[in-house]
Amino acid sequence: MEYINKTCPICGHEFVVQKRVEEKAIYCTLECLSAAQGKVKRGKVSSFVSV
Ligand SMILES: [Zn+2]
Repeated sequence: MEYINKTCPICGHEFVVQKRVEEKAIYCTLECLSAAQGKVKRGKVSSFVSV
């Protein structure tokens, strides 16, 4: 099984994923995943409000 080192775009933490799930594994934890989704939602809302 091959593994790849990735860096979480939210917290900058390095983590290791199996190569076959590399594309799906973007964040190191579910916390970072939900943080990223929260940011997207807030970003959409705030840009909608400012427009
Ligand atoms: Zn993270």
